[in-house]
Amino acid sequence: MLDKVLIANRGEIALRVLRACKELGIKTVAVHSKADRELMHVRLADEAVCIGPASSAQSYLNIPALISAAEVTDSSAIHPGYGFLSENANFAEQVERSGFVFVGPRAETIRMMGDKVSAISAMKAAGVPTVPGSDGPLPEDNDEAILATAQRIGYPVIIKAAAGGGGRGMRVVHSEGSLLSSVSVTRNEASTSFGDGTLYMEKFLENPRHVEVQVLADGQGNAIHLYDRDCSLQRRHQKVLEEAPAPHLEPQARENVFKACIDACIEINYRGAGTFEFLYENGQFFFIEMNTRVQVEHPVSEMVTGVDIVKEQLRIASGLPLSITQEDVQLNGHAFECRINAEDSRTFMPSPGKIELYHAPGGLGVRMDSHIYTGYSVPPHYDSLIGKLITWGASRETALTRMRNALDELLVEGIKTNIDLQKDLVRDSAFQQGGVNIHYLEKKLGLT
Ligand code: ADP
Repeated sequence: MLDKVLIANRGEIALRVLRACKELGIKTVAVHSKADRELMHVRLADEAVCIGPASSAQSYLNIPALISAAEVTDSSAIHPGYGFLSENANFAEQVERSGFVFVGPRAETIRMMGDKVSAISAMKAAGVPTVPGSDGPLPEDNDEAILATAQRIGYPVIIKAAAGGGGRGMRVVHSEGSLLSSVSVTRNEASTSFGDGTLYMEKFLENPRHVEVQVLADGQGNAIHLYDRDCSLQRRHQKVLEEAPAPHLEPQARENVFKACIDACIEINYRGAGTFEFLYENGQFFFIEMNTRVQVEHPVSEMVTGVDIVKEQLRIASGLPLSITQEDVQLNGHAFECRINAEDSRTFMPSPGKIELYHAPGGLGVRMDSHIYTGYSVPPHYDSLIGKLITWGASRETALTRMRNALDELLVEGIKTNIDLQKDLVRDSAFQQGGVNIHYLEKKLGLT
């Protein structure tokens, strides 16, 4: 087992990784900016290193500082959490070249999945169902070929940047008249934003759900899935409320997609925790991308399977085989996660500031993953997530009732939060039925 892990992150995920390390008897090193020195992950870690004077995201992105922090503390591995450097192949490479274990997939896997064109072709080759599309990059100087591709796929189509992420670098095209101009605008945006103008094209699905499959693979020939999650409640491509398992899926398509994900992991010799993201429409799955890290919404899968995903990540990084087989993974009950953000419920503007009062809910089947406390100041430099409220129940209805009650118990005063929005959502009748599509939240909010 790894001896000491440096956690290259802050906030709730730093705490989450810390807890898993403690359970496994692994020593922990926290890193922090000067402004973050009082935070919980710094208090709870065995050691802490200040990696930057600036109270900005820059500190946590400073690769030389992170690697020298690992060196001076004699750490054996670096866990990147999510966000920041978690899907940065160059970081993974530098970590391993410096003699530390990177808790995650190999750099080449991260690189392949970071380029969506190569990710999609690898997945297609492995038998994962993909969205009908250009099957490769769009040519740079062949308008005829681009027009023909769209014709073959059928309008509406979506133009996407191969290097895109975070819901940026995409444009929907409804008819031939605007295709070439949209391609050219998207290419310019992609070059400017991602330093890579490579584009591809897909059929635009009109009313899909976002359903994803959690996997774990040890890079030694073993891979399992931890069932699915539904993350369709999104605003501007940002997930707001997630659940596991995804309700009302076509059973055979679901079994097939689990098998395809496992086959793909074996095929590319995947190592670590990962998520296959799909659009789901009319009983069919369409792969859109793979995330090569632990995700914000991983707790819902943990609650319904009893598998600690971060502990498995650490075991895999220690060179151990998976501690469980597929037969060991039993789906039990239902779980929801509400992301709690420091933001205005109506305008969605971030709301940094001092938390005057914080009270976390409790009780059977209630889990609060958060780093905040009364007196904590939410900095303006990071994303606005201040916690995740997760509930479990033997049935979907019980889990949802618990979430309603838990949200009523949750108090965060002094800043604006999205708690009222979440209270609304868990009482929404369509959501209570289950299976709303990715446009549902924006429509409900009157944004589209
Ligand atoms: P990113 O990496 O930027 O998140 P994705 O490829 O995962 O990009 O797409 C983000 C979101 O854009 C999806 O969750 C979905 O809402 C929408 N989207 C992407 N591709 C399609 C498509 N082919 N049809 C309909 N919507 C799509």
